[in-house]
Amino acid sequence: MAKIEKIDLIHFTFEVAGLGPDAEGTLGYNPSAQQTLQSFVLKIQDSEGTIGEYCPMHSGKHPAVINQTIPLLPSLIGQDSLAREELYQRYKRRHRHLGGVGYSAIDICLWDLFGKKVGMSIATLLGGFRWDLPAYASTNSGDHNGGLSEPAAYADFAQQCRDLGYRAFKMHCWSDGDPKSEIATIAAVANAVGGDMDLMTDPASHIRTYSDALRVGRACDDHDYYWLEDPLADCGHAPHVHRLLRQKIKTPLLLTEHVRGLEAKSAWITEEATDFLRADPEYDLGITGVMKTAALAEAFGIDVELHSSGPAHRHCMSAIRNSNYYELALVHPKMTNPLPPIYTCGYSDQLEAVSADGTLPVPTGPGLGVTIDTEFLARSEVGRQTFE
Ligand SMILES: [Mg+2]
Repeated sequence: MAKIEKIDLIHFTFEVAGLGPDAEGTLGYNPSAQQTLQSFVLKIQDSEGTIGEYCPMHSGKHPAVINQTIPLLPSLIGQDSLAREELYQRYKRRHRHLGGVGYSAIDICLWDLFGKKVGMSIATLLGGFRWDLPAYASTNSGDHNGGLSEPAAYADFAQQCRDLGYRAFKMHCWSDGDPKSEIATIAAVANAVGGDMDLMTDPASHIRTYSDALRVGRACDDHDYYWLEDPLADCGHAPHVHRLLRQKIKTPLLLTEHVRGLEAKSAWITEEATDFLRADPEYDLGITGVMKTAALAEAFGIDVELHSSGPAHRHCMSAIRNSNYYELALVHPKMTNPLPPIYTCGYSDQLEAVSADGTLPVPTGPGLGVTIDTEFLARSEVGRQTFE
């Protein structure tokens, strides 16, 4: 048995031009701003010298994520590096008050370690069967700074994404909970690219009342939207109101992005409160947790759509039959995707990474199949913790 014998947690920063806080402190497009973001690389080495490593993409920017991971690391020393199922069960219980988010990067690291030990990609180990994933361009939130600042800007950007190859487009509009601007954007984008692209909208829990959510849902119906995601200010935690909404509109609902873990998501199926399940390896106890969620959805005959972007997401989707689109998040017409420039192998979740046929590739090398840029990391490191 190979035991985990050393863990390095490397904190680093990176700069994003054109990103800044709005009046409420939410980050968005601001052409005169530059934002320093922080993330981390987790490295787990076992007694055979195999190293698994992972850099969270979007989730690593939330300080709460790393602060849930750090307390778990000392107790991993001496554990079987291949016992992912045992560790998933143990840390799910240990973090039961916190939803298990902190274990997610650890599980992804252990999958990378396993793949490197046996010389196979994670997708192959999961039984992956597709290597080009249909993707949707998922926008950054609306702004008031000349980027995505009006419905016509979303329509123009959707056309740009279509011309790059994307066959699907999802918008995140403004955060003021105004259904009128949301509905105007739903119509503007559909009028521009409807018929060419599958369209989704994600109010990101900004709509304040059930009545307003109904209006938004009916606008989606009018324009044949593919799904409506997390419309309401309950933050996607109240199944009852979404069951009511499903009964009133035709557009499929996508919920459970903010519902942590396999068991809690299952209630949304039995309550008939969502059409799609949501899962994210960076939030739902890693690749192990996501694949369990995919099997749960499969058993009920429904689809699971992965939240956000990253190599772990691609390996999971490669092996999930009941999933439609990879989310290329969060793109913008005038700003790069605010992700760490951490890979040297050509891996990219930037807007232009899409192929002309609207797909993105699954890395084929061992483990996650990506190579961390050690020179960038050395330049950008702001702190390190080592456990052994
Ligand atoms: Mg969402």
